[in-house]
Amino acid sequence: SDHQLEYPNAPNEMDWTKHYPAHVDSQTGEFTGKVEIADIGCGFGGLLVDLAPEFPDKLILGMEIRVQVTQYVEDRIIALRQQHLAENKYQNISVLRGNAMKFLPNFFYKSQLSKIFFCFPDPHFKQRKHKARIVTNTLLSEYAYVLREGGVVYTITDVLDLHEWMVEHLDGHPLFERLSTEWENQDACVRIMRDSTEEGKKVARNKGSKYVACYRRIANPEL
Ligand code: SAM
Repeated sequence: SDHQLEYPNAPNEMDWTKHYPAHVDSQTGEFTGKVEIADIGCGFGGLLVDLAPEFPDKLILGMEIRVQVTQYVEDRIIALRQQHLAENKYQNISVLRGNAMKFLPNFFYKSQLSKIFFCFPDPHFKQRKHKARIVTNTLLSEYAYVLREGGVVYTITDVLDLHEWMVEHLDGHPLFERLSTEWENQDACVRIMRDSTEEGKKVARNKGSKYVACYRRIANPEL
């Protein structure tokens, strides 16, 4: 349950300084960065760790609901920063414990993000549990709000039924447009997303299939 979770009232009340201490002005103590990439349900953080060197100038955030898992990722990032202190690496990734299905617009401004990842989300197989899925019409509107025009939603799963569900909902949403297989094949993040998450590695070990779908956030229709 998430009743003890803390949320900022609005994005300007969110204190990112402890998440990205290398991006704090030493004079004023103010946060100088901006989170641009979000990994929703980041699990053990494999994607964050592999995205970090790919986007050294961008701040990347994992959101994870499980306490121990979040703690694990936090420790993992601190250790990586220590190991790479001289090169100042891994200062651009962090993790936050939270329920991404709630209050996302409390953390992020409109159009703040350029990429949102949903890697191997929980499938919630039973019909009556479908409303618990991380991609629903209502939530897609929130994701569209925090994503900038031209930004991308990345999805990957080994569960065909969930893949079809996500495609159906994203196809049906007026603010998203599916990207082609050719686009997927040339995109560095798709490659990283296929191979770097802990769940993705497990699926590969079990020789399972991985279904990818990526969508571009298109412009709001003229009123
Ligand atoms: N993305 C990771 C990977 O590919 O290895 C983890 C996949 S795991 C099957 C799904 C993760 O989503 C779990 O770690 C779970 O705790 C987290 N999760 C589920 N619902 C969530 C929510 N509403 N907000 C944040 N995280 C959530």
